[in-house]
Amino acid sequence: MAIRKPMVAGNWKMNGSKELVQQLSDAINNVKSAEIDVVVFPPCPLLPMLTATGVTTGSQTVSENKPGAFTGEVDAQLIKDLGCQYTLVGHSERRSIYGESNDTVAAKFARAQQVGLTPILCVGESEQQREQGQTELVVAAQIDAVIDKLGLAALKDSVIAYEPVWAIGTGKTASPEQAQHVHKFIRDKIAANSSDLAQGLTILYGGSVNEKNSELLFAQPDIDGGLIGGASLKADLFTAICESA
Ligand code: PGA
Repeated sequence: MAIRKPMVAGNWKMNGSKELVQQLSDAINNVKSAEIDVVVFPPCPLLPMLTATGVTTGSQTVSENKPGAFTGEVDAQLIKDLGCQYTLVGHSERRSIYGESNDTVAAKFARAQQVGLTPILCVGESEQQREQGQTELVVAAQIDAVIDKLGLAALKDSVIAYEPVWAIGTGKTASPEQAQHVHKFIRDKIAANSSDLAQGLTILYGGSVNEKNSELLFAQPDIDGGLIGGASLKADLFTAICESA
């Protein structure tokens, strides 16, 4: 089995400031090591400042379009030129608040890879979908939108983040067993077509991860790290989570 390097990613969402960059960058740089990838997704205007401190960075979304008349959007090439390596695509807040469809998310994924950014594809079911037994159906459709557009091989240079919508920002974490079940489903689904690709694919869990529950979640065989929202805004919590990976 290929050995996957753990990753812990911090999603600041629309939070943070120049002061927060100063507060967190030393702590993040101290926790970085050869054994773990740590990536931070601050609001776009803070990317140059955070990247300059040596922290590995990414944007929270990118435009699916090439440069042009798209007021308010941010071009993926520009993100890459700032020194970023990653971008999130399809975060549940982008899907639910800004109406991004599976097709739009797949287009953003494509544009990110076109400029050399590694997309982190966020997938996950709502509470209602889980109650109706549709978790696997929903997650599969979110991943298939990318595979249908770009082919399975596109997943090679990407990361998947499983984030059940009901667990994001709610304090209701999926149990390690619930999360592992979906992570294994994702890996098995890809392994049905390419075992090598599936074994090499980093799959993160996100949704109310904190310094208390991270260790058990990250100990699951198919959970390769986490995408952390609220707890990524506090140096002590975020570094404790990184250290548990
Ligand atoms: P949370 O957010 O850790 O605050 O639940 C996770 C995310 O939205 O990526």
